[in-house]
Amino acid sequence: MSTLVRFENTERVYQLGERKVQALYPLNLTIDNDEFVMILGPSGSGKTTMMNMLAGMDSPTGGHLYVGDEEVSAMSREQLVEYRRQNVGVVFQFFNLIPNLTALENIQFVVELTGSSGDAHKALDAVGLAKRQHHFPHELSGGEQQRVAIARALVKEPPILLGDEPTGNLDVATGQRVLKIFQDI
Ligand code: ADP
Ligand code: MG
Repeated sequence: MSTLVRFENTERVYQLGERKVQALYPLNLTIDNDEFVMILGPSGSGKTTMMNMLAGMDSPTGGHLYVGDEEVSAMSREQLVEYRRQNVGVVFQFFNLIPNLTALENIQFVVELTGSSGDAHKALDAVGLAKRQHHFPHELSGGEQQRVAIARALVKEPPILLGDEPTGNLDVATGQRVLKIFQDI
């Protein structure tokens, strides 16, 4: 297996006036291609901070972050936009679907934005939701909405699929089904 992600003394400090908040202490971690990693820790321990940096939504204040041959921590804002578009799919705790688009349209929207060759129908089918393609988010259960969100994250076939507490808003049984989809992927 080859290394895909490398955190090297990566840290994130917020300066709030006089006060420094260490959101993430220097982190050293490598993740291989095709590896499935779970990060566990109490609330406030820096899980979201770490993931946001890997997602290209935030930048470290110290250390380095590499993905493949590229140093994400050295990228400009414009480069990060392109990095996000090509490399990362994110599944959030509260789904974050666009409410006035159907399940299918939520996914097609990403295909258009990224110019990927992904197939929205296939992506929905992969999470077992082909029959719900014309439903709006409010017409879907929490578990179904999260499956749409997974399909949306997957359709551009990113090398990195991130979930930030993707089962945190679901009951245990539904959460286990969603986790199983992640495992299968
Ligand atoms: P987790 O996801 O593990 O619950 P977070 O990464 O959200 O933890 O937060 C880690 C720490 O960083 C917390 O103490 C939080 O209060 C702090 N933090 C997060 N975002 C900010 C911010 N924008 N400004 C100041 N402190 C922040
Ligand atoms: Mg968090």
